[in-house]
Amino acid sequence: MFADRLKFISEKIRAASARSPFKSKQAVRLVAVSKTHPPESILEALENGVTVFGENRVQEAKAKILRLPTRCHWHFIGHLQKNKIRQALPLFELIHGVDSLAIARDIDRIASETGLFPKILLEVNVAGEQTKFGFAPERVHSEMKELRQLPRLQIEGLMTIPPPAASPEGSRKHFVALRKLRDTLEADFALSLPELSMGMSEDFEVAIEEGATLVRIGTALFGDRSGKTWRPEEPDSLDD
Ligand SMILES: *Cc1c(COP(=O)(O)O)cnc(C)c1O
Repeated sequence: MFADRLKFISEKIRAASARSPFKSKQAVRLVAVSKTHPPESILEALENGVTVFGENRVQEAKAKILRLPTRCHWHFIGHLQKNKIRQALPLFELIHGVDSLAIARDIDRIASETGLFPKILLEVNVAGEQTKFGFAPERVHSEMKELRQLPRLQIEGLMTIPPPAASPEGSRKHFVALRKLRDTLEADFALSLPELSMGMSEDFEVAIEEGATLVRIGTALFGDRSGKTWRPEEPDSLDD
């Protein structure tokens, strides 16, 4: 049952945050990753007190957002394509995966055209995997000056997706690396980056021990998503 899974996870979040030496003043926030799951599952989560949902496709998210109460808060956790920025900006309260200076510039430009001040996290590829999206750690440092000059962007912190690990402990060094990079950036640029989005179903407790403020949990809350997709029965007339 959803309520049981949520209770189990909430207890683990609370315990991990109690033992973390890096916990922030603000409580760790759960982002319930609802991608592929239907609006009814999201509604059930909402009725159980979950209010923040993570989606990784703009079209799918938009269709769900239109079908759910406005008290849902939506975070974009995927790779944002340039041609989806205009649609995405008004829908999401936080964009977790801003992964290059080029996309940051595009977001800033479109935000200024549409009168918005988007909150974003910079996605960092801490393990240096060639195939993955994200800033290389030295790049986020060398490009921070330019990133900060983008007047519309509110850079709230950093996000990472570590490479698959055999055990949760295997991810710890990547979470440590993200936290340390955040500390370095704060010191070198005299800025505040309070949010660290790290940790998923398998490793969120380790992430919280290392200072996560946002954990993105899908499978452990909503169940397996292999082979699942969700599409609206009636296409939205608002879609273009
Ligand atoms: C799908 C996804 C998650 C959730 O993963 P689970 O292992 O199901 O908890 C978290 N973060 C991102 C970026 C994702 O795409």
